[in-house]
Amino acid sequence: MGAGPYAARKPKGAAVQNNPHTTLITPKAPVAANTHGGRAKCLQRLVRLDMPVPRTVALSFDAVQRIAEGQVPDIAAILEQFDAEALLCVRPSSEDPDWGGPGAVLNIGMNDARYLDRSADMGADAAAALYLRFVQSYALHVARLDPDVFDDIETDGREGLSLSLRAYEDETDEVFPQDRGEQLIGVLRSMARAWDGTSARLLRQAKGAPADAGLGLVIQEMIPGVGQGECGSGVLQLIDPATGMPQITGRYLSQSQGRDALGEGVAALYLEKDERGPSLEDVAPEAFADLKANAALMREKLREEMQVEFVVQNGQVHILDGVRVPRGSRAGMRIAVRLAEDGIIPPQEAVMRIDPHSLNELLHRQVHPDAERDVLATAIAASPGAATGRIVFTAAEAQASAARGEPCILVRRETSPEDVRGMHASVAVLTEKGGITSHAAVIGRGLGLPCIVGASEMRFQTKKKLLNAPDGRVFKTGDILTIDGTSGQVLAGQPEMLEAALDDCFQTLMGWADAERDIAIRANADTPADAQTARNFQAEGIGLCRTEHMFFDPGRLTVMREMIFAQTPSGRAAVLERLLPMQRQDFVQLFRIMEGQPVCIRLFDPPLHEFLPTTRSGQRELAEALDLPVSDVERRVEAMSEYNPMLGLRGVRLGVTVPEIYDMQARAIFEATLVASKEGAPVVPEVMIPLVSAKREVELVKTRIDTVAAEVASEQGQEFDYRLGVMVETPRACLRANEIAPHSAFLSFGTNDLTQMTYGLSRDDAGRFMSAYVNLGVFNEDPFHVLDGDGVGELLKLGAERGREAQPDVTLSVCGEHGGNPESIAICRALGFDYVSCSPFRVPVARLSAAQLAISSKLGG
Ligand code: PEP
Ligand code: MG
Repeated sequence: MGAGPYAARKPKGAAVQNNPHTTLITPKAPVAANTHGGRAKCLQRLVRLDMPVPRTVALSFDAVQRIAEGQVPDIAAILEQFDAEALLCVRPSSEDPDWGGPGAVLNIGMNDARYLDRSADMGADAAAALYLRFVQSYALHVARLDPDVFDDIETDGREGLSLSLRAYEDETDEVFPQDRGEQLIGVLRSMARAWDGTSARLLRQAKGAPADAGLGLVIQEMIPGVGQGECGSGVLQLIDPATGMPQITGRYLSQSQGRDALGEGVAALYLEKDERGPSLEDVAPEAFADLKANAALMREKLREEMQVEFVVQNGQVHILDGVRVPRGSRAGMRIAVRLAEDGIIPPQEAVMRIDPHSLNELLHRQVHPDAERDVLATAIAASPGAATGRIVFTAAEAQASAARGEPCILVRRETSPEDVRGMHASVAVLTEKGGITSHAAVIGRGLGLPCIVGASEMRFQTKKKLLNAPDGRVFKTGDILTIDGTSGQVLAGQPEMLEAALDDCFQTLMGWADAERDIAIRANADTPADAQTARNFQAEGIGLCRTEHMFFDPGRLTVMREMIFAQTPSGRAAVLERLLPMQRQDFVQLFRIMEGQPVCIRLFDPPLHEFLPTTRSGQRELAEALDLPVSDVERRVEAMSEYNPMLGLRGVRLGVTVPEIYDMQARAIFEATLVASKEGAPVVPEVMIPLVSAKREVELVKTRIDTVAAEVASEQGQEFDYRLGVMVETPRACLRANEIAPHSAFLSFGTNDLTQMTYGLSRDDAGRFMSAYVNLGVFNEDPFHVLDGDGVGELLKLGAERGREAQPDVTLSVCGEHGGNPESIAICRALGFDYVSCSPFRVPVARLSAAQLAISSKLGG
């Protein structure tokens, strides 16, 4: 390693040595990321590794702040550290390099005299190009001239330089400063002030920087890229930044080869040997080997995949800087896993390095980051991933389109259970109304279907089958749109996509995460396909099977409707008999797929009128099917309609007043239990009662279900276990958990309804004003998305404490959508819940965030 010139890194003169704010970077100098910034600290680490880093002086946050306030730094002391002839560059050094900073300024010290010297070394045109770039950059950033001052200068080289110097003089009435110290002061001042500008402040705050984040600066001696041997500059990485796979990438611009080929200028070479053309490895093999060795050492010692910025001078490598390779989520995961596999970081650290939210990008197809986006509207990103298809306006059209093999996007004002089959047939869903827990959003996430809801800036003319974009464009059935459910953007046309990446690396990371995790993760799964997805993502059971979706199959819907029209309990029971074998088969399938893992089945929850047709033609068809006058059907629909169905006759209230439905479901669950247990691992089903608000509701339902269980056991001559529990989703159930828990093996908090009822906020209508509320700071976040720790969280705490007091071994969980949200999982874990349950596609996100919480608490975080 060519460390020769760097071995004696001693400050020259006492001024810099004694000044804590202006520090020559030596192995022992007092340089820290929180006083001098990440770049300065990184350079010191490279110096400690004895890498060939040119002399560098670091200015602390305080020093830069003082410069911004108008104080002049001790420039003589700084310049004393560098060779009198050397050109200098200044780069920003914020505490976290991701916060950015003003652009670097190069070639400080360039002036008329040095231009002549350099012309002798490198040719007049190359020297002129160097000087010209400095003059223009100084003019724009330090003298703050308008960029158009140089617009008319079309030539470069010597002529361009003299025209630029003249333009500078004309605009400033001063000659271009020739003194290196004066130039440096100007540059330092302009960079210090740029950091304080409003847009720079907003930009870094958006990246998580605190309002008072400081800026350090590093001043580095530039290596002249001239000499007899190979000369040039470039950047090198040991990975492909798009994928994180090992591969040498970057670029190298050779001064020497450029001069050979073109007389003057630079030539772009490959880094590694390449059939397509000459490489650095060909022209300077030792320099290339040295560079690779330095990059590998940097990776090992800095415990990070680094981009190396370097200069080759006379075949010798100089390392100017090392920065973290910028990366997307895919590369980020592979980098972390490979570092751990190579023993550079422990697996726990790899787990901690991945942002759980970023997994969404890996689990779903995405719009390619480089694709052009023709954005029509932006609304609530309700289910991640992106899909392109022809738009359809009804569930029936969606099914027809799927039958033709044409991907389609279902466009509805809002969706209802009747649309579920259409959603199954679609590749994405777009609705005008709704929020993060509205029907379309919940089902979309369950199906892993990209979904945007609350797109009220578009006009949904569903009867006319037209969709109007705010810019006036109109889309009709069959037109192609793309739904980006990750960003919430509705796009015209078909941008390029990036496929999901559930590769070995993902599995490895998840394995490490599971080894740390101390709260179980289940999935909300209603269908065999959901259950299979849940298993693929290694959920530890089903935490919520919403059974109502099973009744929307056309074959079952009519029977359901017949049941609703039955006049007597025995008439109802007789109709339900026909649904029993179908429902039993549903559960057998789920139990088979889950192979003995817990399956929590929620008894019927929605209001019955959701199963009745809303249109006149639908009502006529029903009258025909049931052989009733259409007026009877209309009357029944009218009689069953409710002003506020979400707070009406649904959940356990149906179980109490129309108990035959729960009887049938319980029988189906228990019979399926016996079938599945005969074939494989014994099944202990969990039966959950929704929307409970009073102890008596539980007592009434429990008595009937226990009776059905006893009947099934005696009919089949076989005993089985089951667990009966309560879904806690009304505030009263939380408050009265002490009375409810003694009758319940488990309490599962339904935080969707609980949030709705705690705030008095409609799940389906909140989308209209949610963004205004969040923007105005009324809510920090959409409480349907991130659990409200202060209010709803307090009810969870009360419910958990009171439930446990009355029944210490009651199982506690959350099965609302919050179960897949990292911030909400933290609340559940802190309350000592046994598991959270979320949409299958969110299971990996939940596994990773739960693991991170466990690791942080082990580390005392
Ligand atoms: C809930 O309310 O949190 C819940 C999981 O049930 P649903 O979303 O079906 O109302
Ligand atoms: Mg609910």
